[in-house]
Amino acid sequence: LVVLGIETSCDDTAAAVVNSNGEILSQVISSQAELLARYGGVAPKMAEEAHALVIDQVVQEALDKANLTEKDLTAVAVTIGPGLSLCLRVGVQKARKVAGSHNLPLVGVHHMEAHTLVARLVERELQFPFMALLVSGGHNLLILARDLGHYIQLGTTVDDAIGEAYDKTAKWLGLDLRRSGGPAVEELAREGDAKSVKFKVPMKQHKDCNFSYAGLKTQVRLAIEAKRINAEISLASASDEERQARADIAASFQRVAVLHLEEKCERAIEWALNIEPSINHLVVSGGVASNKYVRSRLDEVVKRKGLKLVCPPPSLCTDNGVMIAWTGIEHFRLGRFDPPPPANEPEDVVLDLRPRWPLGEEYAEGKSEAR
Ligand code: ATP
Ligand code: FE
Repeated sequence: LVVLGIETSCDDTAAAVVNSNGEILSQVISSQAELLARYGGVAPKMAEEAHALVIDQVVQEALDKANLTEKDLTAVAVTIGPGLSLCLRVGVQKARKVAGSHNLPLVGVHHMEAHTLVARLVERELQFPFMALLVSGGHNLLILARDLGHYIQLGTTVDDAIGEAYDKTAKWLGLDLRRSGGPAVEELAREGDAKSVKFKVPMKQHKDCNFSYAGLKTQVRLAIEAKRINAEISLASASDEERQARADIAASFQRVAVLHLEEKCERAIEWALNIEPSINHLVVSGGVASNKYVRSRLDEVVKRKGLKLVCPPPSLCTDNGVMIAWTGIEHFRLGRFDPPPPANEPEDVVLDLRPRWPLGEEYAEGKSEAR
């Protein structure tokens, strides 16, 4: 099987070709990071136009790099949700066009399932059931993956995701946003004293597996205001003293943001082992999982609980086309796909887009235990 994967759910336009042996034949990403830095966030209409501008080129490049043409493909996989519908539409239209012209089956992919399953491409011995912590810009999920397509949600965020907190911290600290905020905070945090600013760990009193990052965001903003840090002055032009103050906030924020992950993961592992005692692995994926500090702290938790950590390489943790192609392969192998769309389909056909699409069912016991 050779599958093309297309991803346009947020601010990256990505495509990749993967085969059923798990070989990555090509991988292309066009990022809107510079655009976002200039305008200070994602504006759906602007993101849609940016995707539309590069999608043909990104897909063509993925095929060229794999030394293939469209007719060599077995199927096309594309993210249909969750995400911004204007953006999802660009990818889905392109996928239908490619599939329609060559009579290829289509697989509609859940973006967060793809962040999870890419771990099975990386780690061949990763069998169901396993656990996953998904940490990205829009999600903070603890998942028990019982089988392909069968997920239980042990925890989620009640407000913001950790990636959002990293991005705002980067912005308020005046860091370079031409790439995403997370890596910039991680880098600066290495120069800081993580115990110097006392932030409170969120949701200590909640005996559940849910997350909250809105309050920590506010704590960081107040600390930045109290130290009179001016985000208009770039880090490069800040004095030594001011640079240290910013680094201390970055390190203190990161420590507490990750402590919150550690505490909830530990509880979720206990819950999950009660449901499925045969679990051996915790997958950590999504953009924030490319952070070295996050990885090493969670590795400690997982070891303490007698499990193994599986964390994809950074390029497969942040949004990419490989995870979409691979998830397409996983479903295709079980006969879960849509028939080829008609060739020359009219542009106004109603598409199956799922901007809000939960991954699996909520864990009922978790709900009743939550305060
Ligand atoms: P979602 O997957 O929830 O739809 P998304 O697709 O925008 O969100 P991803 O590409 O999976 O997100 O992840 C992007 C997020 O990961 C951003 O918030 C970014 O700051 C964060 N991130 C990336 N690298 C790092 C890092 N090294 N440290 C911390 N955060 C990081
Ligand atoms: Fe993502």
